[in-house]
Amino acid sequence: MRTRVLVLGAGFGGLELSTMLSEAFGDAIDVVLVDKGESFVFGFSKLDVMFGRHSAAHAHHAYRDLVHPGVRFVRTHVRAIDPSAKRAITDHGTFESDILVVALGADLDPSATPGLVEGGHEFYTVAGAEALRHVVPSFERGAAIVGVTGRTFKCPPAPSETALLLHDHLVARGVRGATEISVVMPFGRPIPPSPETSDAILEAFAERGIRFIPDRLVVSLDPARRVAVLDDGSELPYGLFLGVPHHHAPAVVADSGLLEGAWIGVDKQTLATRFPGVYAVGDVNGVGTPKAGVFAEGAAQRVAHAIIAQITGGQEPAPYNGAGSCYVEFGGHRVGRVDVQFLAGPRPTGRYQAPSEALVAEKLEFGASRIRRWFGRNWSPAP
Ligand SMILES: Cc1cc2nc3c(=O)[nH]c(=O)nc-3n(C[C@H](O)[C@H](O)[C@H](O)COP(=O)(O)OP(=O)(O)OC[C@H]3O[C@@H](n4cnc5c(N)ncnc54)[C@H](O)[C@@H]3O)c2cc1C
Repeated sequence: MRTRVLVLGAGFGGLELSTMLSEAFGDAIDVVLVDKGESFVFGFSKLDVMFGRHSAAHAHHAYRDLVHPGVRFVRTHVRAIDPSAKRAITDHGTFESDILVVALGADLDPSATPGLVEGGHEFYTVAGAEALRHVVPSFERGAAIVGVTGRTFKCPPAPSETALLLHDHLVARGVRGATEISVVMPFGRPIPPSPETSDAILEAFAERGIRFIPDRLVVSLDPARRVAVLDDGSELPYGLFLGVPHHHAPAVVADSGLLEGAWIGVDKQTLATRFPGVYAVGDVNGVGTPKAGVFAEGAAQRVAHAIIAQITGGQEPAPYNGAGSCYVEFGGHRVGRVDVQFLAGPRPTGRYQAPSEALVAEKLEFGASRIRRWFGRNWSPAP
């Protein structure tokens, strides 16, 4: 009988896992991949949409294009997960499995920050980025804040990248002199595991007159007075507020008994939960890596290798090492890169590559290669 693998969530983690199982077994495996959405969107595409580099339509990769032998995509909402039975209840009925992988990502809650919905903007959803595409071009004078509202958030470089790209945008429009840009972040440095990358970002901020406010969170906005309130009670006036909203595990995961603290508890070496045959990969787990697509992908690869070994009677793969390479937009059409290892040694380490045009091309290929592999079609992040 074919092994039944149920993958909840077709984001970075779920897509990579399903693709690998199809490549290994073809029709000899029975993978059901479930997502409530119609399409996949890279996180970095949201910055491209916000700054008008391409349309939102270009960023969407429709799940109907997924053609992997052995994988069936079901578009539906997961309403309940029973990890002890390896079962999920959805709007399309109940799915049973031999192996269950939860890859449902992190949900965003802008309304958790008082005043953000009424008086500011978030750029972490496609809808938010698309709305900003029409707002940013009308910002002409005063203070812009890129502000983080919760300690855990996806893609730690994204607020810094946003500030640098905003700088370029304002320079191109000839209004940078009439504006200020500040970044409010809950870390002491932009990329804590990589001092070199942090220094390069801080240097880029200094060169461009961008103010970095470390170790602070934005706790609320007062839309009437146009001020952002920080967690030490201080206030910053703003004309444009670009917020990173609160992140939390999806409600269906919170109700499942899988959480240990805010995220799903997993074995750091195997990504297995305490329920036999149930794994959690990507942003939804609390393994200790940053919440980023490259880590979701690495975790999915470790779990795919474990499932392949289990089915074929092969050797258990090497422990998960929490490694990932992040591309960092520095503006001026240059991209840097940081390679980080979170779980291989006693503390996280990062290796930095300075921004270059070669890395711009590498980042484009990073996106293009995933779409080729997962969706079987050609695409470029730069149309
Ligand atoms: C502005 C921005 C820039 C970023 N830049 C980068 C970058 O350059 N590099 C990088 O590696 N990462 C980047 N990221 C982070 C990256 O997008 C995420 O970390 C990554 O997508 C996480 O993958 P995942 O598989 O864990 O979850 P996701 O990709 O979020 O997928 C989870 C899926 O689960 C589905 N889902 C959730 N709940 C349900 C439910 N109840 N029923 C059915 N389906 C459900 C969702 O629809 C979603 O498709 C960025 C993020 C942002 C916001």
